[in-house]
Amino acid sequence: MLNGLDHIGIAVADLEQAVPLWLKITGGKLVHREIVASQKVEVAVIEIGSLHVELLRGVSDDSPIAKFIAARGAGIHHIALRSTAAQEELDRLKQTGVRLIDETVRTGAEDSRVGFIHPKSVEGVLLEVVEPGHK
Ligand code: ZN
Repeated sequence: MLNGLDHIGIAVADLEQAVPLWLKITGGKLVHREIVASQKVEVAVIEIGSLHVELLRGVSDDSPIAKFIAARGAGIHHIALRSTAAQEELDRLKQTGVRLIDETVRTGAEDSRVGFIHPKSVEGVLLEVVEPGHK
């Protein structure tokens, strides 16, 4: 089951520029920073009240984020919805004919389990299903 917004993902070219900019504009705080090797991204999470904004920088030219920025420039990349059981959610979506990017969950930031749904199935929106880590 999906039960709320987990975060919004924003593609950025340069985290050293984007993090201070987002902190200045929102008054939020930097709560996490990590390189997620499996997804070829460096992530910085800004907390604004109950909202988390995930700033994403590609760490190599073949990173999906680097490709996104090359094609469209920086901007909103995905919306992440929270689930208590991400794999079950992906299985359910697959059964209903939704096109998935990940049929099997991957390890995301902060030891979460994540899977992406193809934007072609969601009217152009890249959706991520996130099961938060159990640290
Ligand atoms: Zn995300």
